[in-house]
Amino acid sequence: MTREPRTSPIVPSYGDSSLADLSASILASLTGDTAGNVLGLPAAGRACLLIIDGLGWELLRAHQAAAPFLSELAFNSRPLTCGFPSTTVTSLGSIGTALPPGSHGMLGYQVAIPGEHRLLNGLHWPKDVDPFGWQPKPTLFERAAAAGVTPVHVALRAFADSGLTRATLRGAQYRPASSLGALAAIAVDALHDSERTLVTAYHADLDGVGHVYGTNSAAWAFQLAHVDRLAEQLAGALPLGTMLYVVADHGMVNVGAEDKIDVDAIPQLREGVALLGGEPRARHVYARPGAAADVLATWQDILGERAWVLPRDEAVKDGWFGPVDDALTERIGDVVAAATGANGIVASGAEPNETALYGMHGSLTSAEQLIPMLAFPSL
Ligand SMILES: [Zn+2]
Repeated sequence: MTREPRTSPIVPSYGDSSLADLSASILASLTGDTAGNVLGLPAAGRACLLIIDGLGWELLRAHQAAAPFLSELAFNSRPLTCGFPSTTVTSLGSIGTALPPGSHGMLGYQVAIPGEHRLLNGLHWPKDVDPFGWQPKPTLFERAAAAGVTPVHVALRAFADSGLTRATLRGAQYRPASSLGALAAIAVDALHDSERTLVTAYHADLDGVGHVYGTNSAAWAFQLAHVDRLAEQLAGALPLGTMLYVVADHGMVNVGAEDKIDVDAIPQLREGVALLGGEPRARHVYARPGAAADVLATWQDILGERAWVLPRDEAVKDGWFGPVDDALTERIGDVVAAATGANGIVASGAEPNETALYGMHGSLTSAEQLIPMLAFPSL
């Protein structure tokens, strides 16, 4: 008998207080578009958005000693929801387009390319898939430039020409920075470029440390302290009339070996499945023709309360992805499985690297969905 999950998923607050609403509001605060400024951010000539990969709201609240500067800013702030799946590919899509996932189409770490029987991995973009064709909506940066605001993105050189960057961040001048010090200095420099500037700066290592060592490790807390210093240095060097915002793309949960459900060790979970997409905390399950109902029943039965398992229509209707464009529906699995608690739906054969990770994210728990939205000067 199926045991239903006891908890409820946190459905992202699209249109109200989600990551997409933050970037829409920042641009609106620079252009004086009050209707588009859903979060009511103060009008400014320049804004800097610091994106810390993997800094969940609950994690920040639990590590105040390691991050005194950010914790002070968090004291009077409310978290946002990042969107589903709570993963970098999707969240950079939401930041970069100011649209919810169902509209920008960056629907997960690995999603099916409709009609091609293969997956598109957003972090290892296939050379034969045109990023513009995959995500054709205008980006935040293209809209900023059209409104007379100079857009700059600062991050590692390695990401400069990636498919993900071209799909979600095109239109920004890309300035490479290979260290925390360079990230701060180059972002501050860029803010001086013109009277109206939008600078986004992205830091990846906190997420990477969390994946390997877990968020309960000394390594994670020490890395967080570096991030705290980075934010403080940026805040201390802003040109007059600049707002600094600090946000994350998702949180994280620690998934122990005993909490990993291995699809490659339970043959029933592969029955009728054409492609297994997503990642351990958020699976897109693409069924063979005619098999969707059976796959749904099997996944619900075997996973029980360890995941919220819905057919595509229901996940869409419940608002997990925000409003979904008709043309993008097929990128969503016939069955969508979002892990509860600290569970992970791994595939040890197909995905040995991902399976070995300890920190994971993707689902609809508060640990993953809630992200800080910090402002300096404080709002
Ligand atoms: Zn990650």
